[in-house]
Amino acid sequence: MERLRPLLSFSYTALKSNLSELSSPYKLNFAVTLKCQSRCLTCNIWQLKPKGELSIEEIRELASKNRSFKWLAITGGEPFLRSDITEIVRAFAEASNLYMLTLPTNSLCNSGIVLSKLKEMLERGVPHTVITVSIDGSEEMHDTIRGIKGNYRKAISLFDLMHNMQDEYKNLSVVFGYTMSRFNQGRFMETFESVKNELPYVTCSDFHINIAQNSGNYYRNALEHIAVERSAAELELSNILSMRRNRGITDAIEGAFIKGMLYFVRNGRPPLRCRSLDASIFMDSFGDIYPSIMWDMKIGNVREADYHIGPILLSEAAAHAKEMIRSGKDPSHWTSCEAYQALIGHLPSLL
Ligand code: SF4
Repeated sequence: MERLRPLLSFSYTALKSNLSELSSPYKLNFAVTLKCQSRCLTCNIWQLKPKGELSIEEIRELASKNRSFKWLAITGGEPFLRSDITEIVRAFAEASNLYMLTLPTNSLCNSGIVLSKLKEMLERGVPHTVITVSIDGSEEMHDTIRGIKGNYRKAISLFDLMHNMQDEYKNLSVVFGYTMSRFNQGRFMETFESVKNELPYVTCSDFHINIAQNSGNYYRNALEHIAVERSAAELELSNILSMRRNRGITDAIEGAFIKGMLYFVRNGRPPLRCRSLDASIFMDSFGDIYPSIMWDMKIGNVREADYHIGPILLSEAAAHAKEMIRSGKDPSHWTSCEAYQALIGHLPSLL
């Protein structure tokens, strides 16, 4: 029963957030750095030279003053470029009753260092950690989209090493993250087969799917040419859905996420009302707070609020954003940073 307590508390909060307004968000989407060694065609983050990102002391203060988080969703840039990444996780794990830790990697950091940092994170006692290894194509396609020769081989090798850790660390799940864009449209099967050729144990359900979207505050892109064509996306997502196997609740949620993506592609709007500012917020590496990762509408900065998020959520800017969400005037997106919070409360209707 003791081991089930974090899961029950997490599930209760996630369901409650779909029925009534929470007093504070339970998920923090946190871009810990904008530094990145990739050169992705779908994103401009790598072109930035970030200065003045939150220090570990500031992050510790923030974590200690905002203890409601049950899900820490770290993103970047490349999170492992922060030498203090384990300290960041520790700060939130010690301050909040975290149930879930999620983070991506582009596989370009030294794999020995990444694995030792990951082990340290796993030993923090967060019940569920999901790491996503980015893969956007077969070898040549992946290296072209990501702009780094040799990246595909590194991704395959790192995935395999992390996959082997799952025997020892039962709180670890490793998936591939595939971002569907104009550059790889119609080529998921080719990617899947190429990965399977290297790692025969991989199934379609080991892929987390995203579609490339524009975001001024996150990807720093306004790159209309990245969007996958609607008909190609519909066909590909339908194929992926037919190939997936549900091995449990996590796969069921992931399947519902892809179904939601198909709806989004077909209708130009998400299937469920966004839970931003209630269930989740997005904070960039400078402490700027936004409703969501894809909505370029800053509502405050934690440095100006003495590292308390509460007052920012009570600001006029936040009220305005909440009203836009309520009236359906928020920008339409369907991303893993925001969709899962809405999905968890509506899972039965989406399966
Ligand atoms: S998509 Fe991710 S890995 Fe690629 S440049 Fe942007 S932050 Fe880096």
